[in-house]
Amino acid sequence: VKNVFPEPKPANGVQNLSRATDQYIHLDRGDPTMYEIYWKQMGDKTTLVLSGWQSISYFSDTENQCWFLEPGFANAVTRLHNLVGNAQTRDYHIVVGTGSTQLFQAALYALCPPNAPEPMSIVCASPFYSSYPLIIDCLKSGLYKWKGDASKFNKDEPYIELVTSPNNPDGSIRRAVVNGSGGILVHDLAYYWPQYTPISFQADHDIMLFTVSKCTGHAGIRIGWALVKDKEVAKKMTKFIEISSIGVSKDSQLRAAKILDVIADTYEQTQKFDKATPFFHYGFNEMAKRWRQLRSAVSKGQTFSLPDFPVEKCNFSGQTFGTQPAFAWLKCEKAVDDCESFLRKHKILTRGGTQFGSSKKYVRISLISHKEEYDEFIQRLSLISSMDT
Ligand code: PMP
Repeated sequence: VKNVFPEPKPANGVQNLSRATDQYIHLDRGDPTMYEIYWKQMGDKTTLVLSGWQSISYFSDTENQCWFLEPGFANAVTRLHNLVGNAQTRDYHIVVGTGSTQLFQAALYALCPPNAPEPMSIVCASPFYSSYPLIIDCLKSGLYKWKGDASKFNKDEPYIELVTSPNNPDGSIRRAVVNGSGGILVHDLAYYWPQYTPISFQADHDIMLFTVSKCTGHAGIRIGWALVKDKEVAKKMTKFIEISSIGVSKDSQLRAAKILDVIADTYEQTQKFDKATPFFHYGFNEMAKRWRQLRSAVSKGQTFSLPDFPVEKCNFSGQTFGTQPAFAWLKCEKAVDDCESFLRKHKILTRGGTQFGSSKKYVRISLISHKEEYDEFIQRLSLISSMDT
């Protein structure tokens, strides 16, 4: 069984990596440690003190169909979407989950009829997020079954299509590709935030999944949320979370709420925040810099190539730019057939294309790791790239 979860970092950490060229660089996982430095700069603004008497009850809001949803977290989510303009929240039900990973499973549970003769087909256009097939098939459910690349799916039967936009691993902006009639769409919008891509429209799909992991960088808090149009679907998703974990950590929701509120506060520039760099602007600049570094390294030779992205205006920042994804979908050109093994020889760990339903010619590289690690990667890649000119 392949590992879905992050393995612990080596004990010697990444801080010392800048000169340690004999060490492996771990860019095979999307661990968003890039954001640590921003949150350090914010000092105590996001500090939350919780006492022993707090978060005792299982329940957060018995009036809400999602009874374990902290009202402060729901408010912060709505406030942030209204600020950024990336998704409609009016008339949507919010369901909170232990990461969007749990919500993804909750959505499948909610959307698949319990007594169908055959498991529902789940598809996603290739290259797809490598965890989808692992999550879907790990329990060999009678409700659903992974059927791979959506662009090859032509059966006349009900299906669920996962639409990830911007896409993990290749950063493409996506729409559904299957044109069958019995399809239900689940939109995974983990990366639809203005540091990664222009916010060109306010998404209003039936089921939209978001996560703090890729929005604020707090993957370790394990909080995601779903915006769900249909009340019955939201109810069934809530039921799944009730059955699988009797709700979602209140402490984590409170921390997430605090962090999302601080982001919104930095944009309102209240007295307390008037010297703070607004969060998405920081993230945008950092991603832009990392993509410039990467494109420059790749352009030193003919060994590698990268995808290009369409340029659009961002309604949030007013800037016009091309997507600068959290991952690079790097292609090894010429004689190199297995890009992952090739880079591993240079002590750069990436995730190979076959895990995403694509070819060995490609690898996915995380751009959101610690700066020291990323800089070391760029140095090594420039060297490999220029050796071939
Ligand atoms: N969807 C996509 C497309 C992702 O890239 C990730 C994180 N790698 C997730 C979902 C899972 O996020 P979470 O940490 O909230 O479970």
